Amino acid sequence: MSSDQDGHNFLASVDHYFNKAAALTDHPAGLLSQIKVCNSVYSFQFPVRTDDGYRVVKAWRAQHSHHKLPVKGGIRYSADANEDEVIALATLMSYKCAVVDVPFGGAKGAIKIDPKSISVDELQRVTRRYTAELIKKNFIGPALDVPAPDYGSSSREMAWIADTYLAFHPEQIDALGCVTGKSVSQGGIRGRTEATGLGVFYGTREICDQGDDMKSLGLTKGIEGKTFVIQGLGNVGYHAAKYFSEAGAVMVGVAEYEGSIRDPRGIDLEKLLIHRQETGSILDFPGAENLASREAGLELECDILIPAALENQITADNAPRIKAKIIVEAANGPVTAAAEALLSQNGVMVVPDIYINAGGVTVSYFEWLKNLSRVRFGRIGKRFEQAAFDRILNIVEQESGRPLSAEERSAAARGADETDLVYSGLEETMITSYHQIRAIWKLDKVDTLRTAAFVNAIDKIAVGYMEMGVFP
Ligand code: NAD
Repeated sequence: MSSDQDGHNFLASVDHYFNKAAALTDHPAGLLSQIKVCNSVYSFQFPVRTDDGYRVVKAWRAQHSHHKLPVKGGIRYSADANEDEVIALATLMSYKCAVVDVPFGGAKGAIKIDPKSISVDELQRVTRRYTAELIKKNFIGPALDVPAPDYGSSSREMAWIADTYLAFHPEQIDALGCVTGKSVSQGGIRGRTEATGLGVFYGTREICDQGDDMKSLGLTKGIEGKTFVIQGLGNVGYHAAKYFSEAGAVMVGVAEYEGSIRDPRGIDLEKLLIHRQETGSILDFPGAENLASREAGLELECDILIPAALENQITADNAPRIKAKIIVEAANGPVTAAAEALLSQNGVMVVPDIYINAGGVTVSYFEWLKNLSRVRFGRIGKRFEQAAFDRILNIVEQESGRPLSAEERSAAARGADETDLVYSGLEETMITSYHQIRAIWKLDKVDTLRTAAFVNAIDKIAVGYMEMGVFP
């Protein structure tokens, strides 16, 4: 299947989920159509000087919903990028922001190149020119449209984008808020790199803590001891695997681009990364078994499967062979609509992307707030909190007659720094949002968590449009 067809299928899946959820709401048809359509798509091409000549690069920026501004979403660097895929991803961003109460509309960008096949200098020229094209059309700015990293991009590209934007808008006091996912030294926020994977962990832990739901899947309560398989050890996959492992879950399989491995006794994540750095592959990891293909890892026996690579990975073809009880969509769109119907019949719980991978945009929102306020979270209150806790501990010591050790005192009297506050905000967001969608899921006629999340998103975006006074 061509990548264009893949993108089309992905968009068709997103539309299918929307239609199914919209039918359960009582919003007027016109309002629902407005929520569904993509408001603007900028499709463009630009020339870039290569190391030995010129090339013309195809790129997009799609803004799905303007019910709240700015719009927000990552930029994907991929040779397989296509317009339908960008629209599908922008659409998911609108619903994702709504589900986790981040006050942005959805957007997404893509540059059709393989970043690994060109030099860093060329990649920088492509990124800066892409940014300049967005500036020309007012498709970027802290109040308008705020990109972030996605598949194939990282804080390095975000720094180039911020620098280009600042060169065009030196007078804008909040210009750094034009892009998120920057490194801390460039105006980024602590905790953004790991945010999506950490959010996947917080959300899954909360799901596993619902004893009744686990019982109906034939599982015990709690994340500790659960087995999991991860597909894609990139930013999202690595961090999710790290927090799952630290909480006592057991990684029994990994699927990467070069193939899959399995070890039912558990795979040590850090040792696997070192092995991959040394050999260029996850295969032949000591103690683990190589599987026949990269897709084979998805079909391993486990409690939780975490696809964290790309869309359209679990389809009607391989869904009947999936053995996991829970699929956590760390990537965007890894389960197709046809696959989800089959999985649902087999009693598999699919935790939808628009909820579970929203940690990235949640912390991007905190970064944007930091750029607008121009102060690090925790800078003002930390020492005051610490002094207040110290005063309380002094009274406790006096009243109890037991002096506290230096370790006890520093653990109990620590003021919150930026990382503490970001993690706390992310944990609160993932837990509160889960209970919102779980409550909808428990209603009659709501079959899956995804339908519940879509109903939740549609209701919130509908309120946004009604508040604008466009719809009665
Ligand atoms: P990344 O580029 O850091 O990592 C992707 C990983 O998947 C790489 O290790 C790559 O080798 C691997 N991979 C690619 N094709 C594969 C295949 N066919 N089989 C197995 N592995 C394969 O990207 P990322 O930022 O971790 O994003 C991964 C997914 O998560 C994407 O769908 C992205 O849209 C989504 N997402 C990312 C963020 C974020 O903050 N980065 C936020 C929300 C959603």
